[in-house]
Amino acid sequence: MDIVNFNAGPAGLPRAALERARDELLDIAGTGISIMEHSHRGKTYEAIHAEALGLVKDLLGVPDTHDVAFLQGGASHLFAILPMNYLAAGRSADYVLTGDWSKKAMAEAKIVGRARVAASGQVDGKFVRIPKEAELDRDPGAAYLHITSNNTIAGTQWSEFPARGAVPLVADMSSDLMWRPTDVAPFDLIYAGAQKNIGPSGIAVIIARKDFVAAGLETIPTYLRLKTHFDAGSLYNTPPTFAIYMIRNVLALVKESGGLAAMEEKNRAKGAIVYGAIDGSGGFYRCPVEVESRSLMNIVFRLPTEALEDAFVKQAEKDGLIGLKGHRSVGGCRASTYNAVSIDGARRLANFMGDFAKRNG
Ligand code: PMP
Repeated sequence: MDIVNFNAGPAGLPRAALERARDELLDIAGTGISIMEHSHRGKTYEAIHAEALGLVKDLLGVPDTHDVAFLQGGASHLFAILPMNYLAAGRSADYVLTGDWSKKAMAEAKIVGRARVAASGQVDGKFVRIPKEAELDRDPGAAYLHITSNNTIAGTQWSEFPARGAVPLVADMSSDLMWRPTDVAPFDLIYAGAQKNIGPSGIAVIIARKDFVAAGLETIPTYLRLKTHFDAGSLYNTPPTFAIYMIRNVLALVKESGGLAAMEEKNRAKGAIVYGAIDGSGGFYRCPVEVESRSLMNIVFRLPTEALEDAFVKQAEKDGLIGLKGHRSVGGCRASTYNAVSIDGARRLANFMGDFAKRNG
């Protein structure tokens, strides 16, 4: 039975990217050794490193004003590095709180300096919506405004980003970077843990304006300065070479499959199928998120009781549909439909949902 992997992250990777890794594991590019055993300063690795960085630029159409870097430590590392680089003494940063990950990002800023809530997506204590542009209470003197483009736990997603305004715009795009074509130009800095649409965990992709990177504080240790990694082409120290190799495999495949426009078409089709199953269930399944704020990456839903939710997750697993349990902090169910989930996988889930509701409704 084919498994459909709805895990939220680490998430499913495209099968062909894994098969390529299997085929190349013991002998990369005819060198007789694994990519993991190559020097990060050698020709074989450098070519893959450059290809991976180039694919990020190519797929997103990153303009010359911006550059791309990889940094180990995942998105949480960036939660800390961001305020360390930009919150000079006496300055404050604005955060839009749309979920637990934005709260964590803001908590790091508060350790370094001052941070302020510019808007919140909470209703009765729950993150169920994305605030509208007009709701943003912007501090014109903020060091930056931080948003979380997709909220992995809450199941909400910005469909239209706030305008840049006078203050640098920063986004954590961990759970939706590469889900569709995205204009990166208005953002001063975008970061994403790779483990959803891009590759394995433990590494972040960073896309930033060159002048924003250059303006980072130099009063922090070298390794923590973003500039260090951009200036060194993400080779300041030994990078996680195998993770970057896997990013290469995944993104090369995305490119071959029609690029980000093709991803968007597929992701919208999957969203229509799964949300269709929720909305067409006569109330058996319920999505707690405001309709305009629904995520096309993490589809959250509730069943009439927690006992039914448990049974749903267990029975789905027997049918090869894995990873449907909601995040432990909010409960319920969640189907993460990242790029690697096929339209057929979404159909299998919708069919299972229909059958389960019939049997238990
Ligand atoms: N931001 C978002 C939106 C996330 O979904 C996650 C992880 N699921 C993180 C940040 C943290 O990522 P990491 O584990 O790579 O630090």
